[in-house]
Amino acid sequence: METTLHGYSVNPVCCNGCGACASLVPELFAMDEATEKPVLLLAEAPAAAIEQAMAFCPHDCIEMD
Ligand code: SF4
Repeated sequence: METTLHGYSVNPVCCNGCGACASLVPELFAMDEATEKPVLLLAEAPAAAIEQAMAFCPHDCIEMD
């Protein structure tokens, strides 16, 4: 089955550092303890994984290219 990869990003202004993305989709995000914001672990990821993270973010800060 073909898997389409997409870039993804976090809007740092709206992100409150809750950590849900890193906890629930750890293949895509890890929390930076210094900035208390998530860092992206991949340049591109399957759309389904990004959509899952978008659904978990309480402030809709995750964007898919
Ligand atoms: S789930 Fe959303 S608000 Fe929470 S750390 Fe991740 S991007 Fe930020």
